[in-house]
Amino acid sequence: MARFYITTPIYYVNDVPHIGHAYTTITADALARWHRLIGDEVFFLTGTDEHGLKVQRAAEAAGLTPLEHADLTSARFREAWRLLDISNDDFIRTTEERHTTSVQALMQAAYDNGWIEKGAYEGWYCVSCEAYYGEGDLLDDHRCPIHKRPVEWFKEDNYFFKLSAFEQPLLEWFESHPGMIHPTSRRNEAIGLVRQGLEDISISRSSITWGVPVPWDPKHVFYVWYDALINYATAVGYGSDRDRFDAWWPVVHHMMGKDILRFHAVYWPALLMAAGETPPAHEYIHGFLLVAGEKMSKTAFNQIAPKDLVPEFGVDGYRYHFLRDQPFGPDGEFSYEGMVARYNADLANNLGNLLSRVATVVAKQCHGVGPAPSPASKLAAIAEAVVADATAAWARVAPNEALEATWRLVRETNAALEAAQPWKMEPGPALDAVMGDALEVLRIVAVLSSPALTRASEEIWRRIGMAESVGPLDAQRLPDAAVWGGYPGAVRVDKGEALFPRLKASRA
Ligand SMILES: [Zn+2]
Repeated sequence: MARFYITTPIYYVNDVPHIGHAYTTITADALARWHRLIGDEVFFLTGTDEHGLKVQRAAEAAGLTPLEHADLTSARFREAWRLLDISNDDFIRTTEERHTTSVQALMQAAYDNGWIEKGAYEGWYCVSCEAYYGEGDLLDDHRCPIHKRPVEWFKEDNYFFKLSAFEQPLLEWFESHPGMIHPTSRRNEAIGLVRQGLEDISISRSSITWGVPVPWDPKHVFYVWYDALINYATAVGYGSDRDRFDAWWPVVHHMMGKDILRFHAVYWPALLMAAGETPPAHEYIHGFLLVAGEKMSKTAFNQIAPKDLVPEFGVDGYRYHFLRDQPFGPDGEFSYEGMVARYNADLANNLGNLLSRVATVVAKQCHGVGPAPSPASKLAAIAEAVVADATAAWARVAPNEALEATWRLVRETNAALEAAQPWKMEPGPALDAVMGDALEVLRIVAVLSSPALTRASEEIWRRIGMAESVGPLDAQRLPDAAVWGGYPGAVRVDKGEALFPRLKASRA
């Protein structure tokens, strides 16, 4: 059995969950579900990043301790992921004891290996970014290029990580691991960042207290970004359970947006090398999800939350839209009208309609009992091709293509029903053959769509009688579960209500 370890970034606890966070998380979730379906042992990690000056100041402003503040804000992410049926196996918070242990162990190893040393640091610091900026990176009047607010001049003793020593090791690593960073354009970007030259980086702060203490000099805490990256190692036992860590590392799949490429593709592999560990095997980088052409931000007031959309579209409609309409890699544009159109076309008109037609004919003309499929069905060959295409698409992190392939089978089956007109046929072997094939397609589609449609797939499975006759959907494993002929026949089909009632575009 293969192991599949997948992570989202840990989200900054001061943020409010929006559709951009949810995009990364749903994509990781769908991949985790797909890998469970193909029989892999999966560990799916998400969590929250809770240290740093910004959290300390927000807590002070709210009259809370930083941890009290983080308890409240971290809960918003757990709620959002519950709302979206996210199947994470763990939720890490960087304020947990296990994380302190892991960060201190990894940094101590890098320190003992001679890659960390003390120095003085001063520079322009954006509290919102938790980052220093060079003079040339700032906007006019010393404003942060991201937040467009004034930066502050900080001066402090810091520990420095000798990143400059890792230029050549990183370039060699990228060269010998061409599949590490996906897509290729982002791999090239990472190589370009290293080729430009790397400077040593400050990894500790003595001016703030809200962080993981530096074990050999506890007046310092680690800078929030380096503490945060180590969460991926903490969650699989780094610093506490070496056997567990070795079981899951380094074959990890980090999923993230392009804005944090530098941290993940340059700093993180170098830090791991410094500690004597292996860099992560896979990093999947996607673009921004834009709203009216702009990146979502608090200051632009263009943030859309999952909870703004789920009541109208349902969990399935929400997940399906983002997986189907936002190809993984380039920037995408959120459009409410596009979401309605996709829901109506694929879910209401295609899948929902197929289920309702089949269930109606079976109820009226087959006494409510679903017949078995015919081995020689023309749909069998289409199903076989679709399963192969969907499998290949998930493997290359293209959920949109996997779903597109799956819906080809739905459309072909609707077309076959329109050609055969079973609603006009007399009961008998000819009608049974048509209906058995359509039920078999619904069975296969329930399996293939289950990483996206967490609820509708279960409901289709139940209505066509599979749950009762064969067992739960989540016990199915590919490839066996998609081999033509798995629908047993002679099982009760439940007609039910419309699975995906049509939507009207209700908002401008
Ligand atoms: Zn900033």
